[in-house]
Parts: sequence; C-alpha cells; structure tokens
Amino acid sequence: MNLKALVRKNIWDLKPYSTARNEFKGEASIYLDANENPYNAPLNRYPDPLQWKLKEALEKIKKVAKQQIFLGNGSDEPIDLIIKVFCEPSIDNILAIDPTYGMYKVAADINNVEYRKVLLDENFQFSSNKLLQGCNEQTKIIFLCSPNNPTGNSLDREEILKTLQEFEGIVVIDEAYIDFSSQSSFLEIIEQHPNLIVLQTLSKAWASAAIRLGMAFASAEIIDLLNKVKYPYNINMLTQNQALVSISKYKEVEEWVKALTNQRLDLHKELSSLSLVERIYPSDANFLLVKVEDANSIYQFLVHKGIIVRNRNSVSLCLNCLRITVGSKEENHSLIEALREYPSKK
Ligand SMILES: *Cc1c(COP(=O)(O)O)cnc(C)c1O
Repeated sequence: MNLKALVRKNIWDLKPYSTARNEFKGEASIYLDANENPYNAPLNRYPDPLQWKLKEALEKIKKVAKQQIFLGNGSDEPIDLIIKVFCEPSIDNILAIDPTYGMYKVAADINNVEYRKVLLDENFQFSSNKLLQGCNEQTKIIFLCSPNNPTGNSLDREEILKTLQEFEGIVVIDEAYIDFSSQSSFLEIIEQHPNLIVLQTLSKAWASAAIRLGMAFASAEIIDLLNKVKYPYNINMLTQNQALVSISKYKEVEEWVKALTNQRLDLHKELSSLSLVERIYPSDANFLLVKVEDANSIYQFLVHKGIIVRNRNSVSLCLNCLRITVGSKEENHSLIEALREYPSKK
C-alpha cells in the first residue's frame, strides 16, 4: 500500500502545532514554559498530549504497541479525523454497508465528502465483490461495523478479509461491540494489514460512556497522521485518569460482559413469548434488533410507560424494528411486563 498516495497532500505536508509539552520531554522541577497558573494543582497543568501512560496500560491489555494506538474524544473523533486525513472534500468518497452506524455519514457530510452505501442482504451480511463494485478511484475508505449497529450481527469474517486484501484504500472496522461477541477481534491481525484501522471504545462493555474515550488501532504511520491533525490536548486529564481507573477494573468488565450476554439470552427468550414480537435477529452485541407488529405504535406505548427503546422503523431493512439495549435484570423485566400490556392485534 502506498500511504502517501492515499493521504491528502495538505495533511501529508502539514507541520503540526508543537506544544510546550512536545518541545520539552522529561522531568523538571519548575515549569515556566506553557503560561500555566502555578495555583490550583493538579488542574493547572496541561495534560499529556499523547496520553502515554494510558497507552502503556492499553498496550498490555490490547497487545498492540503504544505507537499503534490513537485516543480520541469518543470514537466520534477518530471517525472524523480518518475522513479528514484521507478524503479531499467534494472529490473523494467513502463507502459503508447499509444499514449501519449513523456517525459515518454525518462525519462525511460535515467534511463535504460523498457517502456511498451498499445494501446488506436479508441476513445482514455483505459480499466483498458487491462492496468493491460500489467503489471508484476516489473511494478512500470503507467503513465496516462488526458486530454491526443496528443489526447486532457480526459480519462474515471471510468477506472482511477479502475486502482487506482487495481494496486499495483504508478499511475501518468499528468494533464498538466486540467484547460481547464470540468472534475474535481484527486487532490480532493488524500487523498483516497496513490498510486496516480498528476502532474500539470505552463506551459500551467498559461502562464509561461519560468520560468519552475512543481508541483507534493501526500502523504507527497511520496513527502519526491522526496525531498530526487532532487538537493538541484532545483528551483531558480527568478522562485520562479515570480511563486508567476503568482499565484497572479489567476483571469487573469481564463480569459485566458475562452478565449481559446471559441477560441477552433471557431477554431473547422472554421477548419470543410475546405475540407482538415477529422476529428477533441474532445478536453479538449488547442489544437486540426486534421486528414487531407495529414499531411506531409500540415505541410510543413504551414512552408513555417511561421506557425508551430505539425505533429503527425508518432504517433500511429494519421496517417495524426496535433496537432494545440489554439492561439490568430488573430493567429487562420491567420492559417485558410493559410489553405484556400492549393491546396486540395477534
Ligand atoms: C456506540 C458506538 C460507538 C461508540 O461511540 P463513542 O463515541 O466511543 O461513544 C462507536 N461505534 C458504534 C457502531 C457504536 O454503536
């Protein structure tokens, strides 16, 4: 892969902002280089722009070198920056499966980059050949989400591998839900695929959506490009510190994941006993996509009972579908109780 040929020229040539913390690395006793206020420690100091301590902790868990990790303000930031680095506005395009996570299109629209989509089949799977037929010379990035949102299934591994081998641009695999899946992460084969970027997040299995921490894993060359274009201090100190705490609770995360995958099974069983439920799609994530007799009406019915699910009725291939997050045992039970009271026509 010729990385330089894929990257926008202005980005390749960019001389990034150099912070005070970039210019002096090491330990000193007095810092008078960043116009910080000496009072109100520790909040008075700028945070580490490249978050090395946090990356060193992630390196151990993820088994990827710290130079191959980018940290962002949620996954939203790397999604936006990847488009910024590779796509020339109003010339280049990106391609994604349909339906999928809505942020890829929003980020493309904000960057004035054409968004192309290829419809999944009735099993929510894709064919690499069909996907590649949707590309042209200007297609720089393919976004794949696996397990996919809102469908919940993992995409066919062979088709993903074929896409990685045959597409000459960047392939982003969004693994926001990978911890709930029985499939292995594409992180394990990142060394073999210089065009691969894997996205993960602390927002789902790690139960830390509030701190906004997204991760991108790729070759050190791609990570350097993302670092060049990010805001210098994109991850604040409170988030860096709290993320270190979250990461130290690795065992607890495993327990949560185990509990949620069991509760997913229970919720599936309970839902399938209801006459208003027509189909429950297989899920490798912490939610279920459920086809019901009338999604709009059931959605409103639940709102009146103080229960909010996601109405996906107007999404491609998701007619009359609700996306239901797997909650605590009590929450799932309340949902089922509420649905039992719905005046089903069946
Ligand atoms: C929830 C989700 C994310 C997480 O986004 P953050 O900005 O990290 O909170 C990323 N991708 C998909 C597909 C998601 O559903």
